[in-house]
Amino acid sequence: MSAEPAPLPARHVLILGGTTEARRLAEALAGDPSCHVTTSLAGRVASPVLPPGDARIGGFGGATGLAAWIVAHDVTRVVDATHPFAERMSFNAAEAQALTGVPLLALRRPGWTPRPGDDWTFADSLDEAAERLPGLGSRAFLTTGRMGLHTFAHLTDTWFLVRSVDPPPDFVRGDPQAAPVPPRLEVLLDRGPFALEGERELIARHRIDVLVTKDSGGTATAPKLTAAREAGIPVLVVRRPPVPEGVARAESVAAALEWLAAAAGA
Ligand code: NAP
Repeated sequence: MSAEPAPLPARHVLILGGTTEARRLAEALAGDPSCHVTTSLAGRVASPVLPPGDARIGGFGGATGLAAWIVAHDVTRVVDATHPFAERMSFNAAEAQALTGVPLLALRRPGWTPRPGDDWTFADSLDEAAERLPGLGSRAFLTTGRMGLHTFAHLTDTWFLVRSVDPPPDFVRGDPQAAPVPPRLEVLLDRGPFALEGERELIARHRIDVLVTKDSGGTATAPKLTAAREAGIPVLVVRRPPVPEGVARAESVAAALEWLAAAAGA
């Protein structure tokens, strides 16, 4: 006589991941036997740190693909814990909520705020940042990620130190098919968290005179802001895109757990 397979837990939480908060949320839910957790990753990073629970990697095929996945896998709650700048995925998640009725929470860590001594200039987009950059400095520490690098490609008078986890896409010098990159740049492959001492050293060694960053928030990459303040150099900060309308929001893993617990008790 074969034993019946154990029934799956009634709750299935889909975490749209790619951030520290997504991993922490998966870790916090891992000990809850009443909850099945799946974390979804885009597959951009060559060797991602996988969270506990199930993981799936790769796009869903737009909002309708995501909605179909949610229905097919009996997902009961979705937490969009993607990076604050993963605008397309957050939009798709909001669309999927509208299509399926499965509740969605956007987990967004708070953004950064300037402190006394900071010299910050804000831009609403990478394009605007590229417009403003030449007025602020000529040796830029660019930490906005490898995907938008082409936005700065026309800035021939600026030298760039580009830091990213993986190399910029198709970054092959002399390849006419490759995505354009600024002509004067050095690529530094590294993954946070970053310590203040290392950020100070990079700014001094490369004679950086302007830092470019997204308003990612959090502590893992914040030391560059302190190092810039200490060095007296300006910071060009790209503002976050808004969370889509009609989506519940939480700023911490604890608040997301409360939302999930309230939903479970409803
Ligand atoms: P995006 O522009 O918002 O998304 C583009 C497409 O990638 C989406 O339409 C979706 O494809 C797929 N995708 C994105 N996140 C996914 C996820 N968690 N699971 C499955 N598919 C996903 O996103 P992005 O800015 O390229 O960022 C990609 C990932 O890197 C995100 O998960 C994000 O959390 C992480 N990340 C982004 C940044 C940043 O600055 N943008 C920084 C650090 C980490 P389909 O339409 O086919 O479903």
